[in-house]
Amino acid sequence: MDLLVVGAGLFGLTIAERAAEAGLRVTVVDRREHLGGNAYSSVDADTGIEVHRYGSHIFHTSNERVWDYVRRFTAFTGYQHRVYSTHAGTVYPLPINLGTLNQFFGTAMGPEAARALVAAQAAEHGDGTAPTNLEDKAISLIGRPLYEAFIRDYTAKQWQTDPRALPASVIARLPVRYTYENRYFSDTYEGLPAHGYATWFEAMAAHPRIDVRLGTDFFEDGQPLSKGSARGQLPIVYTGPIDRYFDHHAGPLGWRTLDLETETLPVRDFQGTSVMNYADLDVPWTRIHEFRHYHPEREAQHAQDRTVVMRETSRFALAGDEPYYPVATPQDRERLHAYRDLADDEPDVHFGGRLGSYLYLDMHMAIASALSLWSSGAVLERSAGSS
Ligand code: FAD
Repeated sequence: MDLLVVGAGLFGLTIAERAAEAGLRVTVVDRREHLGGNAYSSVDADTGIEVHRYGSHIFHTSNERVWDYVRRFTAFTGYQHRVYSTHAGTVYPLPINLGTLNQFFGTAMGPEAARALVAAQAAEHGDGTAPTNLEDKAISLIGRPLYEAFIRDYTAKQWQTDPRALPASVIARLPVRYTYENRYFSDTYEGLPAHGYATWFEAMAAHPRIDVRLGTDFFEDGQPLSKGSARGQLPIVYTGPIDRYFDHHAGPLGWRTLDLETETLPVRDFQGTSVMNYADLDVPWTRIHEFRHYHPEREAQHAQDRTVVMRETSRFALAGDEPYYPVATPQDRERLHAYRDLADDEPDVHFGGRLGSYLYLDMHMAIASALSLWSSGAVLERSAGSS
């Protein structure tokens, strides 16, 4: 073996595939029983519907290099993501756009009138001081009425915290579109893997020089590919949590986790769309995913009297929970610096991916970051140096 990759998510699979293609013998371990990390999906045997097991995943990118790379392993459908939000018993299109504005204010404004209205409402926070909390920041961007309808309670549910107690830095911008365009992503390329995520990931791992060992935890002493056995013996690309690698030496990094509750309902179509947000506090979940809508082209293979939905709620992760989104408080950032210093002292270990870098990464960003690491030559150099 020339290289050990810890984590079979998109970062780890991309490194493994590139390294194998370049002639290295690679072993990939993952503590889960499947490839693909959080992007994994599987077909529900009862309904024939492909369920994204860790929440909805839509592939989108404007990066030509990533788009060329991923299409070596899968074709993509022409799916375009659109999201709606239920507030006070009415459904609105998101992101906030001219359709949302006219529906919400009961108007028939054109772009300029709408722009002027939002600017006038945002001027409420007009005393010249920088907003110090999320609520003030949001009001300074879109005004109070839109903030209270679409942002306040949704954010409170996401963070289990009153938005007035959250730092302004949690939101950088709140996009308002002054057209009726409600495509959620504005990237050049978008779609879903035509034959499912699992088939895509299997194609990436199919190289004869890649050996995959699932259900294998890098930190489990006694297994032959554990940290204790492998460290210092060969180059490692590690895509698990960086704080865990260093035994939480500088303290745990904060994450938000999701509780995902999947249910089969006795109706063909529950909500008419793939994702419905719930903006108000009277509904405990932040959104409901309905997976049949991701593949209208497979409708003949789907059950016609049942559908699969997933209710999503959000909270701070406790020990043992799946880490999903970095919280990144000032204390977390300080700890991250400490871990990066420790990582610099591990010359044979490359830390990458969303857990290894403590950064939210979309799939295309994880792949782009892995391709860059690979092209930098650093993995090969170390591999050559240690063999
Ligand atoms: P991961 O997919 O997390 O893979 C890391 C792997 O390391 C995991 O499989 C884990 O089991 C393994 N591992 C960890 N510790 C160990 C250990 N000790 N031993 C062995 N293995 C270990 N991106 C999009 O582009 N579009 C979307 O619509 C989208 N939706 C998302 C929705 C949610 C709820 C979340 C959380 C993310 C979403 N993403 C989306 C982001 C996408 O999931 C990530 O970009 C991608 O998963 C990153 O890949 P990765 O390899 O860095 O990490």
